[in-house]
Amino acid sequence: MPKDPKTQYYHDTFPKQFQDAPGLQKEMEPKPDCGEESYKGSGKLNGRKALVTGGDSGIGRAAAIAYAREGADVAINYLPEEQPDAEEVKQLIEEAGRKAVLIPGDLKDEDFNYKLVEEAHEQLGGLDILALVAGKQQAVEDIADLPTEQIKETYETNVYPLYWLSKAAIPHMPAGSSIITTTSVEGFNPSPMLLDYAATKSAIIGFTKGLAKQIADKSIRVNSVAPGPIWTPLQISGGQPQENIPEFGSNTPPTPIGRAGQPAELSSVYVFLASEESSYVTAQVYSITGGIPTA
Ligand code: NAD
Ligand code: MG
Repeated sequence: MPKDPKTQYYHDTFPKQFQDAPGLQKEMEPKPDCGEESYKGSGKLNGRKALVTGGDSGIGRAAAIAYAREGADVAINYLPEEQPDAEEVKQLIEEAGRKAVLIPGDLKDEDFNYKLVEEAHEQLGGLDILALVAGKQQAVEDIADLPTEQIKETYETNVYPLYWLSKAAIPHMPAGSSIITTTSVEGFNPSPMLLDYAATKSAIIGFTKGLAKQIADKSIRVNSVAPGPIWTPLQISGGQPQENIPEFGSNTPPTPIGRAGQPAELSSVYVFLASEESSYVTAQVYSITGGIPTA
């Protein structure tokens, strides 16, 4: 019998909980499910070399675990204060029998982006998957209260690093490599309280489609994933007002599936877009939203 998608993952209300951004997944209740217990690989990425930003927690962690279990060596980037989450991911990658490389640092710093790519390339002995998952989201209800500093930091975190990391990585990437960005349902249908964040997610769609056309000649494919409401540290550390947390993904916002998604429900798409199975897929956005429309 197939599993019922409404009940396949956590589908109760969430307890209110707040952490300062970026937050630790380790301290969330319930803990996000990143496929730690469930993801099974089948050699789809044997011998591949992946760099995943935001790989310590949430969606990036789900991608990192899946890549390792599919046979890839994996470097992850995250902020220094997320070291405890990153150590768990390192252990999971190593338990899959693959090499794990931890490279903490702030993507708002242009030079760090170039160092990150060089170090990942050197320590992995190559680079053919670039999964750009890191992001910042802070909800502010009234534009009158939206600080310029936040607008800048949201763009500096969500948009600029995509240019810097791609610029540095492309010369290292052989034909058949894949770049995967992470947009959002917000890039299509913005929430009124996410004016800065939603605009960066629209920018990511434009960047992805344009870069895909630019580097198709190099046989590097570029695609984006558009998640809906997914239970991760981003949401409890200011991504949502606390009053939205209990019914996150069921009523705030309402989804046809009726619950929040878990990062593990995105793993197979990050794998697909990285693998040879998506050889005819480029310049596309793949939505995983619990049924919220993105077109
Ligand atoms: P998350 O908090 O687990 O991941 C975000 C990661 O971004 C953090 O772990 C952190 O390592 C990284 N990050 C933030 N600022 C950084 C900086 N200055 N330098 C380096 N790294 C930095 O949350 P998540 O929800 O898994 O987020 C992953 C991506 O998914 C983000 O791009 C987010 O916008 C996107 N997304 C999430 C949802 C959702 O509902 N959770 C929905 C749509 C899109
Ligand atoms: Mg994190």
